[in-house]
Amino acid sequence: FCRFFTEYDRIKSLGKGAFGSVFKARQKLLGKDFAVKIIRCKKKALREARALSELSHVNIVRYYTCWMEDTQYQCDSSTDSNSSSQSSDNAPEMFLYIEMELCDTKTLRVWIDEKNTQNVNKSQGNPQRREESLKIAQQLITGVEYIHSKSFIHRDLKPANILFGCDDKVKIGDFGLVTDESNNEEIPIERTVYIGTRSYMSPEQVRDFSWIFCFGLIYFELLWNLVTGHERQDNCFVLFSIQGEIIKSMLSDQPQDRPEASEVKLELEQCGQLLTISSLSSSKEV
Ligand code: ATP
Ligand code: MG
Ligand code: MG
Repeated sequence: FCRFFTEYDRIKSLGKGAFGSVFKARQKLLGKDFAVKIIRCKKKALREARALSELSHVNIVRYYTCWMEDTQYQCDSSTDSNSSSQSSDNAPEMFLYIEMELCDTKTLRVWIDEKNTQNVNKSQGNPQRREESLKIAQQLITGVEYIHSKSFIHRDLKPANILFGCDDKVKIGDFGLVTDESNNEEIPIERTVYIGTRSYMSPEQVRDFSWIFCFGLIYFELLWNLVTGHERQDNCFVLFSIQGEIIKSMLSDQPQDRPEASEVKLELEQCGQLLTISSLSSSKEV
């Protein structure tokens, strides 16, 4: 008996991370689609569901329910759709199922990659991307600020863990590494190293100020092609130097030199005002 298999249908894989699989599935009773994440139930596996259940914010993936069972749903298994497994001490292995809000399949990772390919041959920068990036960064910082206000630290902020909801809002997901501020436990390094060449970890690992480092890297990546593009318009130059300054301070190797969330939020607002002024003045020139 697998509750997931019994209560849901039209199950499709959405993504597979290092520790969990995520499926799109229709809850039969409600006839509504959800995202269900299945995690091997090891020590601390519950912290993801526990944190999500305490967070309720427009920029955080919404949590609905969770349950445990000894069967792991496997989408690609041709013989049977769910399988039980035994752990090394011969007790049946348990799996945690987390039902949450279904988001777009396009993560922020995909968004950035798409923008970079679109922009590759443009000598002019893309003001639309700059505006969109700013809006994303503002929602992201609002979500992070909320997480901290509830005394949690996400510890795995990276574009692949940032989603878009069907309301088009930015949603922070993957709370698999979440911890609360009082907790000084070790960080499992293999989960936090970014697959590929880029790492979203700060030099001193995630503690206190380091989330801002991850945020700085993401904001930099959101704007990357613009920064390297040939934009020499005066207005844009001013904007870049301001955004460049914020990013530089966020990426400082001295944690205490990095700005607070509230400062970053304020600076992003100022950038937004400058963007409006610059788009008004350039439309007047035309
Ligand atoms: P990691 O290796 O990053 O720790 P993970 O196993 O913890 O991954 P998640 O990052 O939570 O798993 O999810 C894996 C992928 O599944 C995401 O990158 C995303 O593409 C997709 N996904 C996760 N949650 C949702 C959701 N609520 N709606 C739509 N897609 C989702
Ligand atoms: Mg992830
Ligand atoms: Mg994870």
